[in-house]
Amino acid sequence: MYCKNRAKEVIEKNRDEITALCEYIFDNPEMGFKEYKASAALGAFLEKHGFTVEMGVGGLETAFRAEKKGRGSGPVIGFLCEYDALPNGHSCGHNIIGSSSAAAAVGLAETIEEYDGNIVVLGTPSEEGSGGGKEILYRAGVMDDMDCAMMFHPAPWTVINDILLAIAAFSYTFHGKPAHAGVCPEKGRSAVEALIQMFNNVNGLRVTVKGTTRIHGIIRQGGTATNIIPELTEAQFGIRASTKGELLELVERVHNCARAAALSTDCTVDIKEIGISYMDLVSNEVLLQLVEKNLADMGERIDMRNAKEGVGSSDVGNLSHRIPVFQVMISVDSPALPHTDAFAEACRGKRGADIAVRAAKAMAMTGVDLFNNPDLVNKAKEELKERLNVK
Ligand SMILES: [Zn+2]
Ligand SMILES: [Zn+2]
Repeated sequence: MYCKNRAKEVIEKNRDEITALCEYIFDNPEMGFKEYKASAALGAFLEKHGFTVEMGVGGLETAFRAEKKGRGSGPVIGFLCEYDALPNGHSCGHNIIGSSSAAAAVGLAETIEEYDGNIVVLGTPSEEGSGGGKEILYRAGVMDDMDCAMMFHPAPWTVINDILLAIAAFSYTFHGKPAHAGVCPEKGRSAVEALIQMFNNVNGLRVTVKGTTRIHGIIRQGGTATNIIPELTEAQFGIRASTKGELLELVERVHNCARAAALSTDCTVDIKEIGISYMDLVSNEVLLQLVEKNLADMGERIDMRNAKEGVGSSDVGNLSHRIPVFQVMISVDSPALPHTDAFAEACRGKRGADIAVRAAKAMAMTGVDLFNNPDLVNKAKEELKERLNVK
């Protein structure tokens, strides 16, 4: 317990600095892959606390990797920072994610000389909007040496074992044939009718899909003038399912809705993936039990042990298929839902920073658990292997 207390004390000692960091990121919201200020601020914070920081890793300007080594070889424990905003600011509270993961690493690093192993902090850009920063960094090999990783995400409730849905996004461009809509409509082929037909087909599909799936579309282009049979339209769809396997099957069925719509209206359709697909979150009980106990020891309220159904998606899901990972949801003590202005308000200022400090302590304590007993890391890896085999 001594080391856990020390890690917590270090975080508490740096509360003002963590608060300033959390507020700075909130007050300077930057969209995915443009998080220059946030990544620089996190990098500077970690460097000041003895980490070796490399900015712009994995070919992403706003990604970073910070490291502090222990006395010898041992587990490499990762902390994942997110810091991208939405058009309405930090309405997903990623200012809390970035500052809490960095603060946790600083708290844990204070005693790293006593351990075998490394602490790695990864700055992972653009989680929102299918940016897939974590997937890009994984593919670039930036986290090849990491044995496990952790992060906290602000939420309306504290949930230990959350569910994240697998998600993919596609663009469907329909090509018809233009014609004067009054003089010779028979010479035209309407890309608008194809697009409408696709939405109808998708709605028909909903009758025979699992209740846990989500299919949601928008219209990006819908023709230019009413007196011209529209030549070009574009729809975009987000498609979500409980697992990667279910998602792949559902995606094919949605594609067929588009193909059938094109066929029935004498149009053609081009299908393109948008961004990077996100996988479901594979939970890891070995890690979750550690962080759950640490939260309980801190006197934190746990609203839900296991989420009943998934609503969101994240690229942390992709990592969870490769290494043991957790993303615990921590309550912002507001019923507001993420991506709303009210949720942003709950993540702002000292109020948001206090959540970051509490999350940081729980993560640092979990890091102490893993360094004290590296066999837990092996057990977590075993569990992941078993879960992937079952799927
Ligand atoms: Zn979000
Ligand atoms: Zn988020």
